[in-house]
This record gives sequence, C-alpha cells and structure tokens, in this order.
Amino acid sequence: MEAMLYQKLSNSKVKCLVCNHYCILQNGQRGICAVRENKNGIMHILNYSKTIASSIDPIEKKPLYHFLQGTSTYSFATVGCNMKCPWCQNYDISQRPKPGKPIEGITISPQEHIRRTIHYNCPSISYTYSEPTIFLEYAYDTMKLAKEKGLKNIWVTNGFMSKETLELILPYLDAVNIDYKGLNSIYKEYCLGDAITILDNMKIMKKANIHIEITTLLIPGLNDKPEDIQSIANDIFTSLGDNVVWHISRFFPAYKMKNTPITPRKTLLMAKQIGHDIGIKNIYLGNI
Ligand code: SF4
Repeated sequence: MEAMLYQKLSNSKVKCLVCNHYCILQNGQRGICAVRENKNGIMHILNYSKTIASSIDPIEKKPLYHFLQGTSTYSFATVGCNMKCPWCQNYDISQRPKPGKPIEGITISPQEHIRRTIHYNCPSISYTYSEPTIFLEYAYDTMKLAKEKGLKNIWVTNGFMSKETLELILPYLDAVNIDYKGLNSIYKEYCLGDAITILDNMKIMKKANIHIEITTLLIPGLNDKPEDIQSIANDIFTSLGDNVVWHISRFFPAYKMKNTPITPRKTLLMAKQIGHDIGIKNIYLGNI
C-alpha cells in the first residue's frame, strides 16, 4: 500500500515525511522504523492492518489520569518504532521488524477495531504499545471512523512525529501521553531523536487543545541526577504550564539494560518534589 506522506526525489529515491527523521531512501531500502520501504520510487507501508497486539486496558494504564477516568480503552499496535531505546519495555514488538523480513501481525481492518471498541463498551481507542507514528495510515483511517462513532482517540507516543503528521491527525486526536525522556544527550546517544522537536510538538498539541499527559522514565545513571530532573521538569513546565499532568516512572531492567538497577524510591520522591517546586501541580509516581 502506498504511503500518505512522502516526496518523490530523483533517481527513484523517496523522502518519508512521517516522522522527524525524514528518511531519504534508495530503491529497495527501508526507513529507520523498518516498516516503510521504497519500492521502485513509491513509498510503501508494510504494516497497514497488521495488528501485533490488541487489548482492553484501564485508561490509567496508558497512563492517562485526567481523561475519561475509570473507563476502559481499546488498544492496539503494529510492530515497529522510530526510536531505538535500549531500555524499551515493549522491545519485542517495537524492535521486531528487520530489513528484508516480512512484517508480522494479524490482519484486522480499521472497521473491525471500531466494531470491537463499541462491542466492549470502550469510549476510546488507544494507539499504543509501539509507536503510532510509524503506523500512521492505519491509525488515521481508524481515527476517522472512531470520530464518526463518537469515540475518543488517544496516542501514546514518543512525540517525534513530523509537523506533516501532526497536521493530519490533530483534527481527530483527543488525548496523548507523550514519553519525554528529557535530556537531548539521551535522545542522541541512545534513542535517535531530539528533545527540541518533541517539545515543539507538545506546544502545537497544547495549542490545539489536545489533552496532554507526560511520562518520564527515570533511569539510574542516565537522567536521575537532581540537575537532570530539574531540566526535564523545567522543559515540561515551560512548554505546557502548571496544569500539565506528569507521570514519573520507575525503571525496571529490560531489553539491553538488564544490568541497570531499579530506580530507588527516594529518587522518585525527590523528582516529585523538584517538579512541585518548579510549579507542576499534577505529579504521579508510576511503577511503584
Ligand atoms: S516513519 Fe520516520 S523512521 Fe520510518 S521511514 Fe518515515 S521518517 Fe524514517
């Protein structure tokens, strides 16, 4: 299936416009996410309709604490991600696609996701588990149908989508949880991406009246020093104001970081205090 957002370049190259990597691909090459491929000068999406996970979750699990409280949200994902975080808790699906290998997943149409959402009395659909940006077309088609049925659309995202993607989804988007890792050095060294793009996207979403909650995973040795936390809290406060909801999450060893210790409880409490001191009103500790 042909992608929605890309440019054709000379010599059968294409430029993907879906996320801020803006991958330029030669014929036969896949992007960083490994689910978009240049086939003879046409950008193809390989993961459309290929659901790798679906479930009904409490909305608080996204986590969203100040939106449709106490309800369940129908959730689904495809494989793939545009970041490569070595601590990813969902790495088995986010990092699953490999160049040249088929994309795994069960074929489920957007209409079927809507049918299930209504059948299970969920007032919302969450595009979650992996990164919804990389299954943009699948999410977008589902979001449009969801809106027609009066359902809310929620993205649980790393926030590294392009402005073109944001423009496309904003009319249908109701709430987001953005995973903000904070320090630019972490994005550069570990994840691929950058903090500036994500903060800019947060501001655009706020302006569009999208309900925003932020999650920050505090990882020992990476972003848990008082000055790191101060910088992260300051970014969030400056971009979104005092009413933002900030979830500070405890790290558990996972994926390539199995030897890193669990975040100490006192670090989480310190982070909460720093956030309050900066002026953020709604702070919750997660994974404890
Ligand atoms: S979605 Fe992002 S990572 Fe994937 S091909 Fe497009 S620009 Fe590259």
